[in-house]
Amino acid sequence: MSATVIDEIFTVFRERGDGAYLGEPVSQSEHALQAAAAAERDGAPPQLVAAALLHDYGHLVHDLDEDSAEHGIDTVHEDVGAEGLGRHFVPAVTEPLRLHVAAKRYLCAVEPSYLDALSPASKLSLELQGGPLPPDEVAAFEANPHHREAVQLRRWDDEAKIEGLATPPFEHYRSALESGLRT
Ligand code: FE
Repeated sequence: MSATVIDEIFTVFRERGDGAYLGEPVSQSEHALQAAAAAERDGAPPQLVAAALLHDYGHLVHDLDEDSAEHGIDTVHEDVGAEGLGRHFVPAVTEPLRLHVAAKRYLCAVEPSYLDALSPASKLSLELQGGPLPPDEVAAFEANPHHREAVQLRRWDDEAKIEGLATPPFEHYRSALESGLRT
């Protein structure tokens, strides 16, 4: 059964992952693979590597247009991803990805240089996501036991937009995904 879930995820990336990533110069599949490769490069534990690979999976399984941000719609993609994947994966995988948009709003609140460095598309979606976190929500975010992993994931997410970068294929991450499956 566990192999079925992972194969299904790989099939979704294969069939739907060629779409553009929100105005960035990489496809959804390239973005996922670059985020996972960055996590692995930085020595992240396998379950966090799995979170990096799956962090935008919600983009692939909802039916809204990929340019919906330009039309003023926040697709709440991180919740779609965490909800569907939560049936199969442990919180160490799903919590960092559920929190990765909050992590962006958090970093914008606590690190002004972070906001300045965001890509134009990411700055546009920040507005739809609610802008930088207000102080009370900063404290609540820091109280979440997975907040550090969510911030790490966010930074890999931000760098995973390099046109033409070579990465290992999806199959390379099968064992990382297996390590995060519910038993
Ligand atoms: Fe992303």
